[in-house]
Amino acid sequence: MTAVDVGSMIEGIKRWVEAESPTSDKDAVNRMVDIVQADVAGLPVTVERIPGREGYADNLIVRNHLAAGEGTGIVILSHVDTVHPVGTLAGGLPFKRDGDKLYGPGLFDMKGGAYLALEAFRQVAKANSAKLPVTFVFTPDEEVGSPTSRDIIEREAKRARYVLVTEPARDGGKIVCARKGVGRFEVKTTGVPAHSGARHQDGRSAIKEMARQILEIEGLTDYTRGVTTTVGVISGGTAPNVIPQHCHISVDLRVRDMAAGEEFEKKILGLEPFDKGVKVDVTGGMNRPPFEKSAAIDVLFRHAQAVAKGIGFDLQHTKMTGGASDGNFTAALGVPTLDGLGIDGDGAHTEWEHGLISSIEPRTRLMRGLLETLQ
Ligand SMILES: [Zn+2]
Repeated sequence: MTAVDVGSMIEGIKRWVEAESPTSDKDAVNRMVDIVQADVAGLPVTVERIPGREGYADNLIVRNHLAAGEGTGIVILSHVDTVHPVGTLAGGLPFKRDGDKLYGPGLFDMKGGAYLALEAFRQVAKANSAKLPVTFVFTPDEEVGSPTSRDIIEREAKRARYVLVTEPARDGGKIVCARKGVGRFEVKTTGVPAHSGARHQDGRSAIKEMARQILEIEGLTDYTRGVTTTVGVISGGTAPNVIPQHCHISVDLRVRDMAAGEEFEKKILGLEPFDKGVKVDVTGGMNRPPFEKSAAIDVLFRHAQAVAKGIGFDLQHTKMTGGASDGNFTAALGVPTLDGLGIDGDGAHTEWEHGLISSIEPRTRLMRGLLETLQ
């Protein structure tokens, strides 16, 4: 087996991390897609670049020669966008190495993992050692819920036997076999404006109504059922001396299973005003369905565990995690999906985001082992 050259992989990860690529900056993400495309040049693969839509960057699909036809096989999913704005690298989170830790924007979520999976894919493509067609999908918009890549992901997953997702590992190298589903909602209240001094009694406060709605929504949280609701964004009002006409919040819902998803979606969409003089409008719904650990996922996990054992490490999975990924889409289609196959580390979406150098070799070999043994 080709050895894993960790030094040159660190250089490669650095190149990827230094191409800052926040989801909303289409040109920046496309520059990152250019780099990925250049990194597969010369391999026995076919490359399809699908132009971006709705202000997002392009999707890139790379197939090994077996995947050129209609065959089913393995889909690898990696997103190349990050949550960090351009300038993070020059500001709070420069690329740096400190002992076993590699820091940089998006290094942990998920350029480190995407890079090591690509390295494994390159080795397998060169050696022609995969048993199944392998399709590697690089997407531009995961961090905002994959609005323009979801249909591409689902189309590829439907033709596949397995999906491997390179989101970061967690809790000391564990992978992910189950994720909560996510709902997103926007709530607007519309009241009646009035002068807060002269005409207080004529006003109907959109903020006061929203305050009650917020307590109602947050009150839906039920840890025993694994349901959480969060009002994460709020805006409203115009001036201290005006009874506010408008208020707006964004709501995040997390659920363990589809039944809870439907139940709580209905509750949030059905919110009624406490003050009949104020209008309440709710839009949104479930975005990513729950990723539940099926029997087929368990079989796939045990296979990965055996591959890891052959490499010399003990692979475990986490309990169901609250964070969603594109794996939610593919697992919900019934395609056995393993996630969290990326780099180990910590601090996703923060300025202490880092990957562990010691995880590069074993996890590159795990990905290569999966590509060479799954059939
Ligand atoms: Zn991610």
